[in-house]
Amino acid sequence: MSRKQRTGDSGEKGGPEGEATRQMVVMRNATRTFQMGSKEVHALKAVNMTLPAGKMASIQGPSGSGKTTLLNLIGAMDVPTSGSVKVAGQDLGRLSEESLTEFRRRNVGFIFQFFNLIGTLNAIENVLVPVMFDENPRVDRALSLLEQVGLGDRWDHRPAQLSGGERQRLAVARALINDPPLVLADEPTGNLDHDTGEDILGLFTDLVKEGRTVIVVTHDIEVAAKGDITYVLRDGAMIEQED
Ligand code: ADP
Ligand code: MG
Repeated sequence: MSRKQRTGDSGEKGGPEGEATRQMVVMRNATRTFQMGSKEVHALKAVNMTLPAGKMASIQGPSGSGKTTLLNLIGAMDVPTSGSVKVAGQDLGRLSEESLTEFRRRNVGFIFQFFNLIGTLNAIENVLVPVMFDENPRVDRALSLLEQVGLGDRWDHRPAQLSGGERQRLAVARALINDPPLVLADEPTGNLDHDTGEDILGLFTDLVKEGRTVIVVTHDIEVAAKGDITYVLRDGAMIEQED
């Protein structure tokens, strides 16, 4: 199935023809405010963002500037306090909890800084975690993804038996099990040495060649330079969006 068909299938209604496939992310005045006791934390302040599909983008900014909050909105892990977040043509602020879960399953692959692998499962079992309640867990697909990330011969290794770079490659394979059009990575090279980080970025470049959209949160300017577009956050505000 082509990416275009799949994005279309995720239920765009009423939007301009083809918008879902042209723009992966459209954010308008999106805010996210957390209530901490009597204090309000303005994690995101009226953020606007437009990201075409099929690109690699980076989100930069100092610690606490709102990068993870922004990524969580894009990945339907969270909804905005006000404003709109449209991803793959869907207005996420209008979806029910159940529809958000379904949206994530169909559209989003997540990769985290600390890998979030399950230590008691081997590599192929970790790749299959997102689909473990499916009727037909795709073992063949899991194996071919492990091959794609260079871990075909390590399928029965547990995370503790893998190097940091191998664990992150395993996390990439797991993120791809549902063949998502959008891949989100939160500081994926933060715990890796330079060369290993470069390997992971190489994998991301391959994902873009396959037609996916990749968004990488990073502190690293070198990592950001690999992307087509860089967004810069400062204190919850988008201060720069450059091509
Ligand atoms: P970054 O990823 O750039 O380090 P975050 O998005 O994690 O920044 O956080 C942005 C701001 O929002 C910070 O001030 C943080 O403390 C606050 N914040 C994030 N998540 C929550 C939450 N669940 N509850 C309260 N405050 C939060
Ligand atoms: Mg963060």
